[in-house]
Amino acid sequence: MKLCDELTARLGNAATVRENIPLAPYTTFGIGGPADFLIEPESAEALSEALALLRAYGIRTRIFGNCSNVVFADAGFRGAVLLTRRMRAIRWEQNEVWTEAGASLIALSAQAAKKSLTGLEFACGIPGTVGGAVRMNAGAYGREMKDIVVFSEYLDENGKIGRCIEHDFSYRHSVYQKTNRILLSCRLSLLPGDPMLIQETMQTNRKKREATQPVGEKSAGSVFRRADGVIPARLIDEAGLKGLAVNGACVSEKHAGFIVNTGQASAADVAALTEQIIERIFRRYHIQLQREIEFVSEK
Ligand SMILES: Cc1cc2nc3c(=O)[nH]c(=O)nc-3n(C[C@H](O)[C@H](O)[C@H](O)COP(=O)(O)OP(=O)(O)OC[C@H]3O[C@@H](n4cnc5c(N)ncnc54)[C@H](O)[C@@H]3O)c2cc1C
Repeated sequence: MKLCDELTARLGNAATVRENIPLAPYTTFGIGGPADFLIEPESAEALSEALALLRAYGIRTRIFGNCSNVVFADAGFRGAVLLTRRMRAIRWEQNEVWTEAGASLIALSAQAAKKSLTGLEFACGIPGTVGGAVRMNAGAYGREMKDIVVFSEYLDENGKIGRCIEHDFSYRHSVYQKTNRILLSCRLSLLPGDPMLIQETMQTNRKKREATQPVGEKSAGSVFRRADGVIPARLIDEAGLKGLAVNGACVSEKHAGFIVNTGQASAADVAALTEQIIERIFRRYHIQLQREIEFVSEK
Protein backbone atom coordinates (compact mmCIF):
# COMPACT_ATOMS: atom_id res chain seq x y z
CA MET A 1 0.00 0.00 0.00
CA LYS A 2 1.27 3.52 -0.76
CA LEU A 3 2.24 5.51 2.36
CA CYS A 4 -0.41 8.16 1.67
CA ASP A 5 -3.13 5.49 1.44
CA GLU A 6 -1.84 3.70 4.53
CA LEU A 7 -1.84 6.94 6.53
CA THR A 8 -5.36 7.73 5.34
CA ALA A 9 -6.55 4.20 6.18
CA ARG A 10 -4.92 4.26 9.63
CA LEU A 11 -5.95 7.78 10.59
CA GLY A 12 -9.44 7.83 9.03
CA ASN A 13 -11.22 11.11 9.78
CA ALA A 14 -8.70 11.99 12.48
CA ALA A 15 -6.37 13.67 9.97
CA THR A 16 -6.24 14.82 6.38
CA VAL A 17 -3.30 13.43 4.46
CA ARG A 18 -2.36 14.80 1.06
CA GLU A 19 0.54 14.29 -1.28
CA ASN A 20 2.62 16.81 -3.21
CA ILE A 21 0.96 19.95 -1.85
CA PRO A 22 2.38 23.48 -2.45
CA LEU A 23 3.15 25.10 0.90
CA ALA A 24 2.85 28.77 -0.14
CA PRO A 25 -0.93 29.00 0.49
CA TYR A 26 -0.42 27.69 4.02
CA THR A 27 1.98 30.47 4.97
CA THR A 28 1.50 34.16 5.79
CA PHE A 29 4.41 34.94 3.43
CA GLY A 30 2.86 33.09 0.46
CA ILE A 31 6.19 31.37 -0.26
CA GLY A 32 7.18 27.70 -0.55
CA GLY A 33 7.18 24.82 -3.00
CA PRO A 34 5.47 21.45 -2.56
CA ALA A 35 5.77 19.16 0.45
CA ASP A 36 5.82 15.43 -0.33
CA PHE A 37 3.10 15.04 2.30
CA LEU A 38 0.94 17.57 4.11
CA ILE A 39 -0.80 16.17 7.17
CA GLU A 40 -3.31 17.95 9.38
CA PRO A 41 -4.21 15.87 12.45
CA GLU A 42 -7.35 16.71 14.43
CA SER A 43 -5.97 15.48 17.76
CA ALA A 44 -2.78 14.72 19.67
CA GLU A 45 -3.48 10.99 19.27
CA ALA A 46 -3.74 11.30 15.48
CA LEU A 47 -0.57 13.40 15.40
CA SER A 48 1.28 10.81 17.46
CA GLU A 49 0.05 7.94 15.28
CA ALA A 50 0.99 9.75 12.06
CA LEU A 51 4.47 10.47 13.42
CA ALA A 52 5.00 6.84 14.47
CA LEU A 53 4.05 5.61 11.02
CA LEU A 54 6.18 8.21 9.24
CA ARG A 55 9.14 7.30 11.44
CA ALA A 56 8.67 3.63 10.67
CA TYR A 57 8.91 4.50 6.99
CA GLY A 58 11.97 6.69 7.61
CA ILE A 59 10.16 9.81 6.39
CA ARG A 60 11.52 13.17 7.52
CA THR A 61 8.94 15.19 9.49
CA ARG A 62 8.53 18.77 10.72
CA ILE A 63 5.71 20.32 12.72
CA PHE A 64 4.28 23.79 12.13
CA GLY A 65 1.34 25.85 13.32
CA ASN A 66 0.15 28.73 11.16
CA CYS A 67 3.48 29.07 9.32
CA SER A 68 3.65 32.78 10.21
CA ASN A 69 7.33 32.81 11.10
CA VAL A 70 8.82 30.60 8.41
CA VAL A 71 10.08 30.68 4.83
CA PHE A 72 9.77 27.33 3.07
CA ALA A 73 12.24 26.58 0.27
CA ASP A 74 11.20 27.13 -3.34
CA ALA A 75 11.85 23.42 -3.95
CA GLY A 76 9.47 22.62 -1.11
CA PHE A 77 9.99 20.01 1.59
CA ARG A 78 11.14 16.43 1.08
CA GLY A 79 9.20 14.60 3.74
CA ALA A 80 6.03 15.32 5.68
CA VAL A 81 4.92 18.71 6.95
CA LEU A 82 2.46 18.34 9.82
CA LEU A 83 0.25 21.29 10.70
CA THR A 84 -1.41 21.60 14.12
CA ARG A 85 -4.05 24.08 12.95
CA ARG A 86 -6.88 21.57 13.38
CA MET A 87 -5.87 20.70 16.94
CA ARG A 88 -7.60 23.72 18.37
CA ALA A 89 -9.73 22.64 21.35
CA ILE A 90 -9.97 25.29 24.07
CA ARG A 91 -11.31 24.66 27.58
CA TRP A 92 -11.82 27.48 30.06
CA GLU A 93 -11.68 26.83 33.80
CA GLN A 94 -12.22 30.05 35.73
CA ASN A 95 -9.11 32.19 35.17
CA GLU A 96 -7.19 29.47 33.38
CA VAL A 97 -7.44 28.06 29.92
CA TRP A 98 -6.22 24.75 28.55
CA THR A 99 -5.67 24.89 24.84
CA GLU A 100 -4.42 22.56 22.16
CA ALA A 101 -1.30 23.65 20.26
CA GLY A 102 -3.11 24.58 17.07
CA ALA A 103 -5.54 27.11 18.57
CA SER A 104 -5.19 30.56 17.03
CA LEU A 105 -3.67 33.13 19.36
CA ILE A 106 -5.92 35.83 17.90
CA ALA A 107 -9.07 33.74 18.50
CA LEU A 108 -7.90 32.88 22.01
CA SER A 109 -7.29 36.52 22.93
CA ALA A 110 -10.78 37.41 21.63
CA GLN A 111 -12.32 34.66 23.80
CA ALA A 112 -10.38 35.87 26.84
CA ALA A 113 -11.68 39.41 26.28
CA LYS A 114 -15.27 38.12 26.09
CA LYS A 115 -14.72 36.41 29.43
CA SER A 116 -13.33 39.65 30.92
CA LEU A 117 -9.95 38.01 31.47
CA THR A 118 -6.81 40.07 31.13
CA GLY A 119 -3.32 38.91 30.05
CA LEU A 120 -3.76 38.07 26.38
CA GLU A 121 -4.40 41.55 24.97
CA PHE A 122 -0.85 41.68 23.61
CA ALA A 123 -1.58 38.67 21.39
CA CYS A 124 -4.60 40.07 19.55
CA GLY A 125 -2.54 40.79 16.41
CA ILE A 126 -0.06 37.89 16.40
CA PRO A 127 -1.14 35.50 13.64
CA GLY A 128 0.37 32.33 15.13
CA THR A 129 -0.89 29.26 16.93
CA VAL A 130 -0.48 28.76 20.66
CA GLY A 131 2.18 26.07 20.02
CA GLY A 132 4.24 28.32 17.76
CA ALA A 133 3.82 31.21 20.20
CA VAL A 134 5.05 29.24 23.22
CA ARG A 135 8.02 27.91 21.23
CA MET A 136 8.91 31.45 20.12
CA ASN A 137 7.89 33.10 23.41
CA ALA A 138 5.93 35.43 21.15
CA GLY A 139 5.25 38.86 22.53
CA ALA A 140 4.30 42.45 21.85
CA TYR A 141 3.94 45.73 23.69
CA GLY A 142 5.98 44.58 26.69
CA ARG A 143 4.15 41.28 27.27
CA GLU A 144 5.13 37.77 26.25
CA MET A 145 3.83 34.22 26.45
CA LYS A 146 6.15 33.64 29.41
CA ASP A 147 3.91 35.90 31.51
CA ILE A 148 0.93 33.54 31.20
CA VAL A 149 2.16 29.98 30.57
CA VAL A 150 1.63 27.62 33.53
CA PHE A 151 2.76 24.41 31.84
CA SER A 152 2.77 22.70 28.48
CA GLU A 153 2.47 19.10 27.35
CA TYR A 154 4.60 17.62 24.65
CA LEU A 155 5.42 14.55 22.63
CA ASP A 156 9.09 13.64 22.79
CA GLU A 157 11.30 12.03 20.15
CA ASN A 158 10.28 8.56 21.37
CA GLY A 159 6.57 9.24 21.14
CA LYS A 160 6.19 9.67 24.92
CA ILE A 161 4.03 12.40 26.40
CA GLY A 162 5.61 14.70 28.98
CA ARG A 163 4.85 17.88 30.89
CA CYS A 164 7.06 20.97 30.87
CA ILE A 165 6.95 23.49 33.71
CA GLU A 166 10.35 25.17 33.30
CA HIS A 167 10.35 26.65 29.80
CA ASP A 168 13.62 28.60 30.03
CA PHE A 169 11.86 31.56 28.44
CA SER A 170 13.79 34.59 27.27
CA TYR A 171 13.39 37.03 24.38
CA ARG A 172 11.79 34.98 21.53
CA HIS A 173 13.23 31.84 23.05
CA SER A 174 11.99 28.78 24.92
CA VAL A 175 13.20 25.30 25.76
CA TYR A 176 11.30 24.02 22.72
CA GLN A 177 13.98 25.52 20.47
CA LYS A 178 16.61 23.25 22.01
CA THR A 179 14.72 19.96 21.59
CA ASN A 180 12.61 18.17 18.99
CA ARG A 181 9.67 18.05 21.35
CA ILE A 182 6.29 18.76 19.85
CA LEU A 183 4.08 20.95 21.97
CA LEU A 184 0.62 19.37 22.15
CA SER A 185 -1.21 21.66 24.55
CA CYS A 186 -0.68 24.18 27.29
CA ARG A 187 -2.33 25.82 30.23
CA LEU A 188 -2.36 29.60 30.51
CA SER A 189 -3.23 31.69 33.53
CA LEU A 190 -5.08 34.99 33.16
CA LEU A 191 -6.61 37.42 35.63
CA PRO A 192 -10.09 38.88 36.00
CA GLY A 193 -10.07 42.33 34.43
CA ASP A 194 -12.21 45.30 33.51
CA PRO A 195 -13.96 44.36 30.23
CA MET A 196 -13.90 47.95 28.94
CA LEU A 197 -10.19 48.31 29.65
CA ILE A 198 -9.40 44.97 27.98
CA GLN A 199 -11.29 45.99 24.83
CA GLU A 200 -9.63 49.41 24.85
CA THR A 201 -6.14 47.89 25.20
CA MET A 202 -6.80 45.48 22.34
CA GLN A 203 -8.16 48.27 20.16
CA THR A 204 -5.09 50.42 20.92
CA ASN A 205 -2.76 47.51 20.12
CA ARG A 206 -4.56 46.85 16.81
CA LYS A 207 -4.41 50.53 15.86
CA LYS A 208 -0.70 50.73 16.69
CA ARG A 209 -0.07 47.72 14.45
CA GLU A 210 -2.13 49.13 11.60
CA ALA A 211 -0.31 52.45 11.87
CA THR A 212 3.20 51.01 11.97
CA GLN A 213 3.19 47.57 10.31
CA PRO A 214 2.27 46.29 6.83
CA VAL A 215 -0.90 44.61 8.13
CA GLY A 216 -2.70 42.77 5.34
CA GLU A 217 0.46 42.34 3.25
CA LYS A 218 2.21 39.00 2.93
CA SER A 219 5.07 38.71 5.42
CA ALA A 220 6.46 36.59 8.23
CA GLY A 221 6.59 39.41 10.78
CA SER A 222 9.86 40.89 12.02
CA VAL A 223 12.74 39.45 10.04
CA PHE A 224 15.48 40.16 12.59
CA ARG A 225 15.79 39.71 16.33
CA ARG A 226 16.29 42.56 18.71
CA ALA A 227 19.51 42.08 20.67
CA ASP A 228 21.51 44.09 23.22
CA GLY A 229 19.24 47.09 22.86
CA VAL A 230 19.62 47.10 19.07
CA ILE A 231 16.35 47.62 17.23
CA PRO A 232 17.00 46.22 13.73
CA ALA A 233 14.12 48.16 12.11
CA ARG A 234 15.63 51.45 13.29
CA LEU A 235 19.04 50.65 11.81
CA ILE A 236 17.54 49.43 8.52
CA ASP A 237 15.44 52.60 8.28
CA GLU A 238 18.40 54.88 9.14
CA ALA A 239 20.51 53.08 6.52
CA GLY A 240 17.89 54.03 3.92
CA LEU A 241 16.98 50.45 3.08
CA LYS A 242 13.18 50.81 3.07
CA GLY A 243 11.98 49.81 -0.39
CA LEU A 244 15.14 47.80 -1.15
CA ALA A 245 13.94 44.83 -3.21
CA VAL A 246 15.04 41.57 -4.76
CA ASN A 247 12.35 40.76 -7.29
CA GLY A 248 9.08 40.41 -5.32
CA ALA A 249 10.74 40.55 -1.89
CA CYS A 250 10.86 44.11 -0.57
CA VAL A 251 11.78 45.88 2.68
CA SER A 252 8.44 47.30 3.80
CA GLU A 253 8.04 51.06 3.37
CA LYS A 254 5.87 51.05 6.48
CA HIS A 255 8.13 49.06 8.83
CA ALA A 256 11.78 48.50 7.98
CA GLY A 257 11.87 45.34 10.11
CA PHE A 258 9.47 43.55 7.77
CA ILE A 259 10.09 42.05 4.33
CA VAL A 260 6.90 41.85 2.28
CA ASN A 261 6.07 39.63 -0.65
CA THR A 262 4.73 42.09 -3.19
CA GLY A 263 3.78 39.43 -5.72
CA GLN A 264 5.82 36.49 -6.82
CA ALA A 265 8.64 36.60 -4.25
CA SER A 266 10.57 33.35 -3.87
CA ALA A 267 12.43 32.03 -0.86
CA ALA A 268 15.64 32.71 -2.77
CA ASP A 269 14.60 36.37 -3.16
CA VAL A 270 13.92 36.69 0.57
CA ALA A 271 17.24 34.98 1.40
CA ALA A 272 19.16 37.27 -0.98
CA LEU A 273 17.45 40.40 0.37
CA THR A 274 18.09 39.31 3.94
CA GLU A 275 21.79 38.78 3.13
CA GLN A 276 22.02 42.24 1.55
CA ILE A 277 20.47 43.85 4.62
CA ILE A 278 22.80 41.98 7.00
CA GLU A 279 25.83 42.95 4.92
CA ARG A 280 24.90 46.62 4.58
CA ILE A 281 24.06 46.98 8.29
CA PHE A 282 27.33 45.32 9.21
CA ARG A 283 29.32 47.60 6.91
CA ARG A 284 27.66 50.70 8.31
CA TYR A 285 27.29 49.89 12.02
CA HIS A 286 29.52 46.83 12.62
CA ILE A 287 26.44 45.10 14.01
CA GLN A 288 25.61 41.56 12.95
CA LEU A 289 21.82 41.19 12.61
CA GLN A 290 20.38 37.79 13.55
CA ARG A 291 17.38 36.36 11.76
CA GLU A 292 14.15 35.80 13.65
CA ILE A 293 12.31 34.16 10.75
CA GLU A 294 13.24 30.57 10.02
CA PHE A 295 14.29 29.35 6.57
CA VAL A 296 13.17 25.74 6.23
CA SER A 297 15.39 23.76 3.88
CA GLU A 298 14.14 21.34 1.24
CA LYS A 299 16.05 18.35 2.68
C1 LIG B 1 2.00 40.16 10.35
C2 LIG B 1 2.77 39.42 11.42
C3 LIG B 1 2.92 39.99 12.66
C4 LIG B 1 3.63 39.33 13.66
N1 LIG B 1 3.76 39.93 14.87
C5 LIG B 1 4.43 39.30 15.86
C6 LIG B 1 4.56 39.90 17.15
O1 LIG B 1 4.06 40.98 17.42
N2 LIG B 1 5.26 39.22 18.09
C7 LIG B 1 5.82 38.00 17.85
O2 LIG B 1 6.44 37.44 18.75
N3 LIG B 1 5.72 37.42 16.63
C8 LIG B 1 5.03 38.02 15.64
N4 LIG B 1 4.92 37.43 14.42
C9 LIG B 1 5.62 36.15 14.16
C10 LIG B 1 4.76 34.87 14.40
O3 LIG B 1 3.38 35.12 14.25
C11 LIG B 1 5.02 34.31 15.78
O4 LIG B 1 6.38 33.94 15.94
C12 LIG B 1 4.15 33.08 16.09
O5 LIG B 1 4.31 32.73 17.42
C13 LIG B 1 4.48 31.87 15.21
O6 LIG B 1 3.45 30.90 15.38
P1 LIG B 1 3.08 29.88 14.23
O7 LIG B 1 2.03 28.96 14.75
O8 LIG B 1 2.75 30.57 12.96
O9 LIG B 1 4.47 29.11 14.09
P2 LIG B 1 5.11 28.54 12.75
O10 LIG B 1 5.55 29.66 11.89
O11 LIG B 1 4.19 27.53 12.15
O12 LIG B 1 6.38 27.80 13.34
C14 LIG B 1 7.42 28.56 13.93
C15 LIG B 1 8.39 27.59 14.63
O13 LIG B 1 7.71 26.95 15.70
C16 LIG B 1 7.72 25.53 15.53
N5 LIG B 1 6.43 25.03 16.01
C17 LIG B 1 5.19 25.42 15.62
N6 LIG B 1 4.25 24.72 16.30
C18 LIG B 1 4.93 23.89 17.13
C19 LIG B 1 4.53 22.91 18.10
N7 LIG B 1 3.23 22.64 18.34
N8 LIG B 1 5.48 22.25 18.77
C20 LIG B 1 6.81 22.49 18.55
N9 LIG B 1 7.25 23.38 17.65
C21 LIG B 1 6.31 24.09 16.96
C22 LIG B 1 7.96 25.30 14.04
O14 LIG B 1 8.59 24.06 13.80
C23 LIG B 1 8.87 26.47 13.69
O15 LIG B 1 10.20 26.15 14.03
C24 LIG B 1 4.22 38.06 13.40
C25 LIG B 1 4.04 37.47 12.13
C26 LIG B 1 3.33 38.15 11.16
C27 LIG B 1 3.15 37.48 9.81
